[in-house]
Amino acid sequence: MTEIRFPHEQHPETGEVIEVADGILWFRLPLPMALDHVNIYALDDGDGWTVVDAGINTNKTRAIWEGLLTGPLSGKPLLRVLVTHYHPDHIGLAGWLQTAYGAELWTTRTSWLQARMLQLDEQPVWPDEAVAFYRAAGMEPSLFERRRTERPFNFSDAVAPLPLGYHRISEGDVIRMGGRRWRVHIGNGHAPEHATLWSLDDNLILSGDQIIPGISSNLGVFPTEPNADPVTEWLDSCARFLDMAEGRHFALPGHKLPFYGVPERLTQLIDNHHGALARLLDHLTTPKTGGECFLPLFKREIGEGEYGLALAETVAHLNHLLYADKVTREMRDGVWHWSRV
Ligand SMILES: [Zn+2]
Ligand SMILES: [Zn+2]
Repeated sequence: MTEIRFPHEQHPETGEVIEVADGILWFRLPLPMALDHVNIYALDDGDGWTVVDAGINTNKTRAIWEGLLTGPLSGKPLLRVLVTHYHPDHIGLAGWLQTAYGAELWTTRTSWLQARMLQLDEQPVWPDEAVAFYRAAGMEPSLFERRRTERPFNFSDAVAPLPLGYHRISEGDVIRMGGRRWRVHIGNGHAPEHATLWSLDDNLILSGDQIIPGISSNLGVFPTEPNADPVTEWLDSCARFLDMAEGRHFALPGHKLPFYGVPERLTQLIDNHHGALARLLDHLTTPKTGGECFLPLFKREIGEGEYGLALAETVAHLNHLLYADKVTREMRDGVWHWSRV
């Protein structure tokens, strides 16, 4: 097995591009959160460009796109935007690229349906189901009381309207782009029906948020599907990708730096979740709420900015232990209390 290594020590600065492989340009768009960037890849199709992922919808990211399309990407039309998964940092500007530049959107059916549904579902106040979900999850009470009076995060705050119509991609499809044939392989757990693309002609993988170096992808449970078990889906996906991954593979991820060592990284991702599950189980020898499980799970204190995602990830690991019959849960005053069997 090879070590994880990064041929590019530096990422491109805002508005700059780096050619990471023959005919593939890499650039970054900023995100207004702790994880402060997303990677975008532009593939030269000869008569135009395909871009993989689109960035979040802000005035700043649209201005950066305009600069790129009239700068390093000028001279050829933007033909396609291929979106790996429905999260706002990836699909946020896809609809705008469709509408303003005539690009086609290629993505999985679940990504498109989920993004379009959430983009249209604007809520001025927290829906009752969300209030009940976050209470049950054990959100810290003072934070909970404050948050429920604030306008909730809406998908449409970060995602441009998606026009009708897209091109569906599915497991096993072979797509031509950037002078190569790519096979689509679907992952789950971080986002339902997340597309990854594996080159049939060289060693490249466009891995999205399914295989990222250095940071673990959020596995979250949300009010839309409170009883989901994304940890099982994630572990299954990692195991399947590990069967396919080789030391020669060069991954172009959705965040952080392009890297070699995909088998090594997949092994780490699997081991990390098994470690987290074991620590969490030890912590539940006395009953705990979800909000009381951060330290064993994350091995550090969680700040307010990351509280929501941390709680979603905690519920995911608790649900996983529940389905594995390793914990039970009891509802008291609308809050789940979890304990080891
Ligand atoms: Zn994501
Ligand atoms: Zn992402």
